[in-house]
Amino acid sequence: MLPYGHQVIGDGEIRAVERALRSEFLTTGPEVDRFEAEFAEFVGARHAVAMSNGTAALHAAAHVAGIGPGDTAVVPPLTFVASANCVRYLGGDVVFVDVRRGTLTLDPDLVAASMPPRCKAVITVDFTGLPSDLDELRLLAHGHGALLIEDAAHAIGAEYRGRKVGGIADLTVFSLHPVKQMTTGEGGVVTTNSDEWASVLRRFRNHGISVDAAQRAASGSWIYDVPTLGFNYRLTDIQAALGRAQLEHLPTWLARRREIAAMYSDMLAPLDVLELPVEPADRRSGWHLYAVRLRSGALRADRAEVFSALRAENIGVNVHYIPVPHLTYYRRLGHVPGGWPVAEDAYERSITLPLWAGMTDADVRDVCDAVSKVCDVFRR
Ligand SMILES: *Cc1c(COP(=O)(O)O)cnc(C)c1O
Repeated sequence: MLPYGHQVIGDGEIRAVERALRSEFLTTGPEVDRFEAEFAEFVGARHAVAMSNGTAALHAAAHVAGIGPGDTAVVPPLTFVASANCVRYLGGDVVFVDVRRGTLTLDPDLVAASMPPRCKAVITVDFTGLPSDLDELRLLAHGHGALLIEDAAHAIGAEYRGRKVGGIADLTVFSLHPVKQMTTGEGGVVTTNSDEWASVLRRFRNHGISVDAAQRAASGSWIYDVPTLGFNYRLTDIQAALGRAQLEHLPTWLARRREIAAMYSDMLAPLDVLELPVEPADRRSGWHLYAVRLRSGALRADRAEVFSALRAENIGVNVHYIPVPHLTYYRRLGHVPGGWPVAEDAYERSITLPLWAGMTDADVRDVCDAVSKVCDVFRR
């Protein structure tokens, strides 16, 4: 089975991890500092703060936005559940606002029309790697005293109006899970241009402690303080060493992902039963996912049947995502399916094809052949 996503690990990664294991530090140390500096430079942000995973990074960003009980945050329904869970960790209420037809990212017109009271954050998701309408959303958020948090877990290396995502929103969150464009096993990063927020993030990932171990060692003192509650969300030096080795390959891998996406778009264009992903002229996707949608009524089979037929062809297709307000926990909070027609329709018709940097041209052709075959079998 050709998986829908997969990590690429070479000898460089193995040597880097071995070097870290033989070094003085295993947990957060100099490798994390270097990884953060290199990551910040790559995405064009002033600060990068590494976390133990992308979900922890979202939690930390939501904390910076000051979300607490009685506050609200806007989140699109078409995302991984972690984008919304981070609001609930802090006792805030999630207000799901639908996505835009075409790009499938948060719709600024709907956000403007339905900005809830006590909104502390607009959390937008760069779905499949395509940057959201960041300029419009940032203005809207700031106009209501809220921060723009960009969940860029899909979008490492994506570009919006000529700049990489990372220094555009107030806080940008990345995931380093193995299925994403690069990995540290588990890991996450928050980037920001604010010195103040960067230090709040660092404190949050280290129990709320106001000085770190290195500062304490330098001052030769046991004294520390905990001004606010924090967590242990640290990345290890072992993981950071792996991340630095991955960063070296990232530009090549991103180019390969673009190449594969372009091959899909060329080869699948003749299949009029499919809607292919769009990439507006002012942005470039990071191509975490290549998701096609079945045109309503064009096939005799529903999505589940097409999905099974592709799996039977050994194509590891997937579906992204069950709308978050449809999940039991969110239904219990009072969210009622049916309120987000664009996201719900996209979900019903969507199938994610395999896309990762290690795929060969022959793999891409195999996927396209299987998709053509299945579409022909089920065509009306
Ligand atoms: C992967 C992902 C996350 C969470 O990242 P982890 O590193 O797995 O915790 C958050 N949001 C989205 C949209 C994701 O795809």
